[in-house]
Amino acid sequence: MGKILIIGCGGVATVAAHKICQNKDTFTDIRIASRTKSKCDALAELLNKRYGTNVTTAAVDADSVPQLVALMNEYKPDMVLNLALPYQDLTIMDACLETGCNYMDTANYEPKDEAHFEYSWQWAYRERFEKAGLTAILGCGFDPGVTSIYTAYAAKHHFKEIQYLDIVDCNAGNHHKAFATNFNPEINIREITQKGLYYENGKYIETEPMEIHKTLNYPNIGPRESYLLHHEEIESLVINYPTIRRARFWMTFGEAYLKHLEVIQNIGIDRIDEIEYKAPAADGSGDVVVKIVPLQFLKAVLPNPQDLGSNYEGETSIGCRIRGIGNDGKEHTYYVYNNCSHQAAYEETGMQGVSYTTGVPAMIGALMFMKGLWVKPGVHNVEEFDPDPFMDELNKQGLPWHEIHDGDLEL
Ligand code: NDP
Repeated sequence: MGKILIIGCGGVATVAAHKICQNKDTFTDIRIASRTKSKCDALAELLNKRYGTNVTTAAVDADSVPQLVALMNEYKPDMVLNLALPYQDLTIMDACLETGCNYMDTANYEPKDEAHFEYSWQWAYRERFEKAGLTAILGCGFDPGVTSIYTAYAAKHHFKEIQYLDIVDCNAGNHHKAFATNFNPEINIREITQKGLYYENGKYIETEPMEIHKTLNYPNIGPRESYLLHHEEIESLVINYPTIRRARFWMTFGEAYLKHLEVIQNIGIDRIDEIEYKAPAADGSGDVVVKIVPLQFLKAVLPNPQDLGSNYEGETSIGCRIRGIGNDGKEHTYYVYNNCSHQAAYEETGMQGVSYTTGVPAMIGALMFMKGLWVKPGVHNVEEFDPDPFMDELNKQGLPWHEIHDGDLEL
């Protein structure tokens, strides 16, 4: 068994597809389906030439359950790897239930008209997946994804009790553009303009956007200003590791990036509601009023994250800084992380490091399922599975990890 259907054909899907083809002994049948079929065709042609595979393609609107059902009934995949946008999570899960297909994604559901993400919508599918004997794996990118698996690994091997968890995400790359986002601009800007949120002593504490920040030192990179953000993996980790007293997520931003973001917000082009806009009619008969969402318009004029790779230097560094009671009963600290070079990612897949660090874990999650190592009917976050085989694969598939025991966590 090893029939996979990838939905979406953006930066993350491109990396995952390369990696899936590199593991074609396990993934015996591969299809890429997305809204714009021409993109799938171009990628499939490149993959088939490079890896000797027989990747097929299809057009699908993943907002439409009937279209998804028709595609899945025809192709009959063992697993659907959802690498479209978070808006499509629920329709794809519905289609999986209708057709008896297993499911995986890298980002939790968000309604289009509300910049708000939480797991409750997807967790509501637990019983239905369990009853159907189907596995749904949620959040298998880097963060969420590898950061949650790092936490599971720390809990399994190093700690009796994890008490403090700080997830730290640094992108120290330079793409030589005045302003660009590293993954889908619409999703990215919705995420980082939200209020901050962290967990402490059983409660969530809300902050103004970017209100809390601190200089942190990243391995091989040095000091970078790091900002506390709300991030989805905290929600499941504090439930699955109830000894956690405080859990936070930090991401680095440069001054120029934050200045652009401030202007974007001040002029209102981050709005996600529809506005009316007068555009020239295609037949030249004057103006017509069209409805546009300002943030979607901004996405259309910003650089495409997939085009950043060729000129991208530097690296990312993402990890977990953990403090708690070790297996010896004493307090210990532990820092587990990966550094990923944008240039190396580009040379291998034609995509930059942020797509690479998301697409590789997505492939590994699917590999875990196909090999029968992560099969558990229901809807699960990645930390609910055995982290060990996944951690082994990270080292083999291009995202090696490093550990520092009892160092200064700075947090
Ligand atoms: P892109 O915008 O590059 O790609 C999205 C793809 O989905 C495009 O091919 C797009 O098609 C397709 N798509 C969008 N809507 C539909 C639809 N209705 N039907 C079918 N296809 C559709 O995004 P990225 O590759 O950067 O990101 C992909 C996912 O990865 C996102 O959900 C993002 O949140 C997540 N992510 C997760 C991370 C993690 O660490 N966990 C980190 C980074 C990203 P078209 O080409 O026609 O627009």
